[in-house]
Amino acid sequence: MSSTAVAPPACLRRPLVVPRRFMFGPGPSNVPPRILEAGANPILGHMHPEIFEIMSDIKSGIQYLFQTKNSMTLALTGTGHTAMECAIFNAVEAGESVLTAVNGIWGERAADMAERIGARVNTIVAPPGGCFSLEEIEKALSKHRPVLFFLTHGESSTGVLHPLDGIGDLCHKYNCLFLVDSVASMGGAPLCMDKQGIDILYTGSQKVLNAPPGTAPISFSDRACQKIFNRKTKPVSFFLDLSWLANYWGCDGKPSRVYHHTGPISAFYSLRESLCILAEEVGDHNWSFVLARLPTVTTIVAPPGYDWKEITAYIMKTYNLEISGGLGPSVGLVLRVGLMGCNSSKANVDMVLTALKNALKHCHKSRV
Ligand code: PMP
Repeated sequence: MSSTAVAPPACLRRPLVVPRRFMFGPGPSNVPPRILEAGANPILGHMHPEIFEIMSDIKSGIQYLFQTKNSMTLALTGTGHTAMECAIFNAVEAGESVLTAVNGIWGERAADMAERIGARVNTIVAPPGGCFSLEEIEKALSKHRPVLFFLTHGESSTGVLHPLDGIGDLCHKYNCLFLVDSVASMGGAPLCMDKQGIDILYTGSQKVLNAPPGTAPISFSDRACQKIFNRKTKPVSFFLDLSWLANYWGCDGKPSRVYHHTGPISAFYSLRESLCILAEEVGDHNWSFVLARLPTVTTIVAPPGYDWKEITAYIMKTYNLEISGGLGPSVGLVLRVGLMGCNSSKANVDMVLTALKNALKHCHKSRV
């Protein structure tokens, strides 16, 4: 009889099988072969000079992507949520006032995170699909005097792209840091961190950047660093403590780096490759249009009489194609189609439209 109490699982004797799928939901998006192959390079030590050079390239790529000269620019180990917590946990101390703009689920989550560290949290709320005027924002800033104002640029739960111009200036008038979530919009909609007065900006690797999930670019203005590095208390998270991360990413000007955590080496290779593609393809940032709708995630009103779950399931089964239902306030109301980075082609739009048309023909429609 074997001495191991738990036998080797039979399922792990089967080879890994991963289907090919069109990833046209709100993320993750498809990762092109070039980026996947970059991730298959040999593993080196997280403190090896070659990796520090790759991290430095990533930093330059993020500065370009975000349109910022901030030296405090790096990629976190983790997803968009890691970046949300990194921003809030570093910028806010217990007892301080935080204001979040809620027009979907991300403002709610930011409020939840700030509450968990003992901040005094206030929200301004717009109906799902809505935005906030500069007047509404100024009124709330003057009333609550927050140290941090959180706003989502691309509300992926409702499909809204929030205008940013003027908000940074307002925040600074009230001595407040401006924190922007661009997980669903960065690279797919105009955003210039420095010009728009954003103090903390983050995104995720798995959407427009077409890299695997697991790294989250983030950048902090000098104003943000000023507050963060003059805290009275340590941030609640060791893992997300910006003074440690700044050293690991060579952002603190110190001559040597100290081990903080083991960086996700393969994910760094992939992220670097996706930033290379961006630098090659986009060329000069030349955004000259204004949008109210998020171009990366399109919300479509769920057709009356149909069960949205049947539609998404039909499309998955028939076309091996993911589109998704609503999230938070939009559950049951919309379908969400994400065409991000390499997925945003006319051919893919046509494919989704054909799939939707056929779904409406084949799925059950109630008479009521
Ligand atoms: N913010 C927004 C706007 C998002 O769309 C998402 C992901 N859907 C997140 C934050 C969280 O990102 P992640 O799932 O990578 O943690």
